[in-house]
Amino acid sequence: MSFDTLGLSAELLRAVADQGYTQPTPVQSQAIPVILAGRDILAGAQTGTGKTAGFTLPLLHRLQTNSPRNNGQSTGRGPRPIRALVLTPTRELAAQVAESVSCYGKYLPLTSAVVFGGVKINPQIQRLRQGVDILVATPGRLLDHVSQGTVDLSQLEILVLDEADRMLDMGFIRDIRKILALLPASGKGGRQNLLFSATFSNEIKKLSDGLLDAPALIEVARRNTAAEAVTQQVYLVDNRRKRELLSHMVGDQNWQQVLVFTRTKHCANRLVEQLVQDGISAVAIHGNKSQGARTRALADFKLGKVRLLVATDIAARGLDIDQLPHVINFELPNVAEDYVHRIGRTGRAGNEGEAISLVCIDEHKLLRDIEVLLKCEIPRQVMPGYEVDPTIKAVPIQNGRNGGGQQRGRNSGGGQRTGAGRSRPSSGNSSGARANQSAGRRPSSRSRSAA
Ligand code: AMP
Repeated sequence: MSFDTLGLSAELLRAVADQGYTQPTPVQSQAIPVILAGRDILAGAQTGTGKTAGFTLPLLHRLQTNSPRNNGQSTGRGPRPIRALVLTPTRELAAQVAESVSCYGKYLPLTSAVVFGGVKINPQIQRLRQGVDILVATPGRLLDHVSQGTVDLSQLEILVLDEADRMLDMGFIRDIRKILALLPASGKGGRQNLLFSATFSNEIKKLSDGLLDAPALIEVARRNTAAEAVTQQVYLVDNRRKRELLSHMVGDQNWQQVLVFTRTKHCANRLVEQLVQDGISAVAIHGNKSQGARTRALADFKLGKVRLLVATDIAARGLDIDQLPHVINFELPNVAEDYVHRIGRTGRAGNEGEAISLVCIDEHKLLRDIEVLLKCEIPRQVMPGYEVDPTIKAVPIQNGRNGGGQQRGRNSGGGQRTGAGRSRPSSGNSSGARANQSAGRRPSSRSRSAA
């Protein structure tokens, strides 16, 4: 199938051709005609499937061909009303969606802007005052603008909830409900709603039941399955030797662009310090970093100025780095679904990718949970010279979801230098280093800062 058959305008086809895309991805070929027909959709599409263009292209087409409500006039003293709103869970995803909107809409006279927290609000206000057709936003900052009267959502034509599952995980449901209450009615001739989610929990079903009007269901990747273009491997290794093995792999294979995941911000910071000492350029991206530092880190990584980007789960959501060849799970995630999101960073839109997990004995349960979710076994191997010490006993990592109670992870000893004094005791009993370190868990209540 080619893009020409989907019913998109000549301007949009030109922008698509500029990107070098020759064929629509499955989510694009399914979603675009349905959205163009004005229907609501509920799409189960993971990141990496081309879903952003899947909603952005038909959204732009509809705004191009339909006239704005109220002739685009302001309804009060504020700026002219927003015509389409895309809500995303993280700042990075918002920035990337906004980039896609500008890129695909470059031959159209439509205007767009992006608003998210962690940066000054005034430049955003200035931008909104000029009048914006398409707004990409994270929920918290959008509500800040609503309370300042700098956005008018009363004439909205299209609403997109991108990565809705993650928005709920991050505690944004109340914000989303507040935003929905500001929008005009949906249904025939009313607002069109597009909901994208990688997974379908009961909460997502509840949200979609209340929001969507007779939606078309689109599911491109099997639910909770890992991107098929990704080769997955597990290296069994002692916790205290993980950093050494990582440096060895990066150096030995001369990898130039690797996204590394840790469970905690603390581990991400420490790993970066140690890698830098090893002479490998690395930078961390997580919720304790300022937005400026996060943007810079991502830009440097994309430009190839740093080889390793070390990220926590939430910070990594929405990162779109073209043709990322390697994802390394330095620590397995507490929540098995996060593994799917992590490895979705590689093997994107048809490119081959490699996902390697460094798994210590404490993490075997997490590995099993992942394999149950994926319904397949991930091949295990041991790197010669990094054999597992059989005297080390497992200390379970508490998993808030499965174990009930608090979502506590432990302070991974990963990344510690061999013999550096704080290495894991072979008795397997608790050590000071592992006590009470807050895991890379999802905040259960609202978290505007989007770790
Ligand atoms: P997404 O799932 O929206 O995050 O997109 C993943 C990646 O696929 C992005 O880097 C896009 O630029 C790329 N992409 C989107 N559509 C296509 C297409 N039809 N052909 C090739 N690459 C695409």
